[in-house]
Amino acid sequence: MSPPPIRFFNTLSRAVETFTPLRVGAVGIYCCGPTVYHYAHIGNLRTYVFEDVLRRFLESEGFKVTHVMNITDVGHLESDADEGEDKMILAARREQKSPWDIARFFEDAFFADTAALNLRRPTIVCRATDHIAQMITFVKALEEKGMAYSVEGNVYFDTTKFLTYADFGRLDLAAMQEHARVDKDPRKRSPQDFVLWFSQSKYPNQIMKWDSPWGVGFPGWHIECSAMASHYLGARFDIHCGGIDHIPVHHTNEIAQSEGRFGDKWVNYWLHGEFLVLDKGKMSKSKGDTLTIETLREHGYNPMGFRYLCLTTHYRGPLKFSYESLESACNALETLRNKKADWESAPLPSLTEKDHAALDVYRGQFRDALAEDLNTPVALSVLWTCLRDEKISDAAKLVFLKESDVILGLLKQPESLSLTAEQENLITEREKARAAKDWSRADELRQSLEAQGIILKDRATGTDWFVKR
Ligand code: AMP
Ligand code: ZN
Repeated sequence: MSPPPIRFFNTLSRAVETFTPLRVGAVGIYCCGPTVYHYAHIGNLRTYVFEDVLRRFLESEGFKVTHVMNITDVGHLESDADEGEDKMILAARREQKSPWDIARFFEDAFFADTAALNLRRPTIVCRATDHIAQMITFVKALEEKGMAYSVEGNVYFDTTKFLTYADFGRLDLAAMQEHARVDKDPRKRSPQDFVLWFSQSKYPNQIMKWDSPWGVGFPGWHIECSAMASHYLGARFDIHCGGIDHIPVHHTNEIAQSEGRFGDKWVNYWLHGEFLVLDKGKMSKSKGDTLTIETLREHGYNPMGFRYLCLTTHYRGPLKFSYESLESACNALETLRNKKADWESAPLPSLTEKDHAALDVYRGQFRDALAEDLNTPVALSVLWTCLRDEKISDAAKLVFLKESDVILGLLKQPESLSLTAEQENLITEREKARAAKDWSRADELRQSLEAQGIILKDRATGTDWFVKR
């Protein structure tokens, strides 16, 4: 009997659909990447964890995945709807650096954070500033098709020419028209129209700018993703991801531009991750209440515990963040790691027939949970059921723990690469000192490690450690 098909909830139809790639054995995925004007917050990172698991799952199903992620290093204004200043310029002013320096600094910080969460680096990472030519070509094509108009050096997408504009976001354009902001750009013919190219903005101090047929300026944020996604994945591709906030504006506009240019369906499956929220509600960079990987470290939490926490909630459900839930996630992760270390340190017998039979069942349940719209909480519970199964051997449990981790990605201590043998010895020595209740020696060793940038955290389940950034 063949396994159940892979199914994903597609925002296009608002229904769970069977996944069929355009080409046999290959999948193209585009994920909206970070705007590199600040550290990513843990909400952003939740979305990237979901995308990483999606990619790992498809790879485990045998697909060759091309995972493309952009870096927005120009053109993303304070509001997604063309209002305010470029976020890069604001950051440059805040930190008294050039926007180029800001972009590289936060891009590096982003990949340091994603490495700390054991996210695989996308197959292709593309910076907006390296693809201005593709964006200009795209805007010209829209102009030629009569889907764009230019006013005083700015080019706008004419949403009235894209008749299905409201469909993707299920938008009520009439109601939106009524609530259109008074300070809207007077050059726009209708409020939903959006900028493809700015040569004129309310803010003359734009530092990052390029020559174009419409004047020296910079691209709109939405055109960046359409241009880069189609450049690397084509005029039609399989999966586009992002957070749910992107449905009504950014992804709606990406579809309008791309289908406007190519004249056909652009993306087959749109997958959106729900938000991570704090007790008091949404987290926002502009309100200054954002939590980053660094904040978690400062509170004594290993970033990998956050990865575990993300997997405990389905990607389409809100993840309510609290330090209590992070603590439980870290404990659970520590238990998994301890089990692995214990089993690996002892010689284990070979698997019995009963083990093989049980493993087949667990493998099937684990795979089917992920195949059904990437249900990571169910997949995790299958793992725990296997680990608690008294009828199978530890050897079998170790096999399943390692196999499932190809997708869950929890067991790798990404920072272990930077731990020297001497530091490992100090950790072991401290463990022994603690076991012997020699607290002053244990403290001394902790301080010595801390001076070397290694932070220790004692938990009910053992001692966790990680590298201070
Ligand atoms: P940005 O850097 O703001 O463009 O966001 C990067 C990614 O994070 C996008 O896919 C957003 O949809 C997503 N995102 C933003 N805020 C949150 C949040 N609180 N929870 C989950 N994802 C988010
Ligand atoms: Zn995008």
